[in-house]
Amino acid sequence: MAVGTAVDWREGLDAGDLSSEALTRASFDRIRALDVQLHAVLATDEARSLELARRADARLRAGERTPVLGLPIVLKDNLHWSGVQVSCGSRVLDGYRAPYDATVVARLLAAGAVPVAKANLDEFAMGSSGEYSAFEPARNPWDTSRVPGGSSSGSVVAVAAGYAPLALGSDTGGSVRLPASFCNVTALRPTYGVLSRYGLTAMASSLDQVGPIAPSAGDLALALGVMVGKDPLDSTSVDLPGAERLAALRPRSLKGLRIGLPREYFGEGLEAEARGVLDTALRVFADQGAEIREIGLPHTRYAIDTYYLICTSEVSSNLSRFDGVRFGPRAAGGSLREMISDSRDQGLGAEVKRRILLGTFCLSKGYYDAFYLKALKARTLITRDFLQAFEQVDLLAAPVSPGTAFPFGTKTDDPLAMYLADAFTVTAPLAGLPCLAMPAGFASGLPVGIQLIGSALSDVMLLETAQAFQTLTRHHLAEPPLPAPLPA
Ligand code: GLN
Repeated sequence: MAVGTAVDWREGLDAGDLSSEALTRASFDRIRALDVQLHAVLATDEARSLELARRADARLRAGERTPVLGLPIVLKDNLHWSGVQVSCGSRVLDGYRAPYDATVVARLLAAGAVPVAKANLDEFAMGSSGEYSAFEPARNPWDTSRVPGGSSSGSVVAVAAGYAPLALGSDTGGSVRLPASFCNVTALRPTYGVLSRYGLTAMASSLDQVGPIAPSAGDLALALGVMVGKDPLDSTSVDLPGAERLAALRPRSLKGLRIGLPREYFGEGLEAEARGVLDTALRVFADQGAEIREIGLPHTRYAIDTYYLICTSEVSSNLSRFDGVRFGPRAAGGSLREMISDSRDQGLGAEVKRRILLGTFCLSKGYYDAFYLKALKARTLITRDFLQAFEQVDLLAAPVSPGTAFPFGTKTDDPLAMYLADAFTVTAPLAGLPCLAMPAGFASGLPVGIQLIGSALSDVMLLETAQAFQTLTRHHLAEPPLPAPLPA
């Protein structure tokens, strides 16, 4: 990583060798130098960020220490940071500013992290490539003719290009893990409930989770540690066991660790070169004494259908609030009904409209039982597969995506092809399980990620396992071929 990992910067700040102000200025220098090509950033408030950095420096000088004190962080632009725009990558929210802080943002700010940018995303986090943003889409720093992956496209690009050593995304069905694997960074989707959803603009509420993104697992742990803890503002939030181990993450011993390989994830659909990279990565675990065995998750074949029925149903309900009355631009003239309809028609993009229509159909009288209710039943079967697997193994290893980052425009005309990019990422969220994506190697010069899936609330163990892998490999330290102008 061009500007270092959060763990490196943490040490530099604590030792007094670095200042938060200098790091924050370096972030803005990189954004200015690189974002004309990469389009990861939708908004900044430089004066405010620098003021927060100076306050962090004062706290550091006074001897205070927290895992994120003084560290720059990028926020996906569907998270509320009071006073700053929250566009959700949509035109329907033009001019809207967050009136409050999301709980995760408030906790990061209290611990002295320094938000430096709001990051690009697929509109309302619906998408797998970043191309469904209403703005110029973010580009993959490893090959700017290719997508960075979505929906947390800008957050991941910001970390990959060294704008900041930490970012937050959101993951409903893969949105931190897929772009992480396309851009060679590490990202965690925590167990459902581990991070508060208060102030994360809802997409599909039973699936949405905030997820940290960083160069390494140790970095993710720094951010996660200050954000966890039950939140009275999100009744689905829970405490994370072992959270005290996050401030100084230690690699887990891999000896005797039972790793399951779901055979449904390694069949057709997985590109051969990516498969080769995964096999090499799995050997790293095996060489340290991990026991790797094949297991079955037989209901995986229903995952995409199940996910897209539940997701679109929840989307159709959640997005009814964008009606031109309360937020964003209001269409002129006509009756109230026309005003609402025109405001939505003008403000929302094609993919968002497609999902609202699909979801409204799934929930409508006469179809509810056939689609929505059936999807809920399939969700139970998928969850049961995982519960049975975790009776035999400690965690699962799987690909993140069928292949590497694809060129722009290859899937935008075919929504089904885009949905299939999520084949390996939508299952764990349906079961509420924690899952992590990290760099596993390269295929034809493009990053390939490996995914670890754990049982509920095993997030810390998952990070410790990832860290063990990252102490034995150097893929996560590889830098994209970009100009890296660093200030003196
Ligand atoms: N790509 C998936 C979708 O389009 C996941 C999105 C997400 O996780 N926010 O629904």
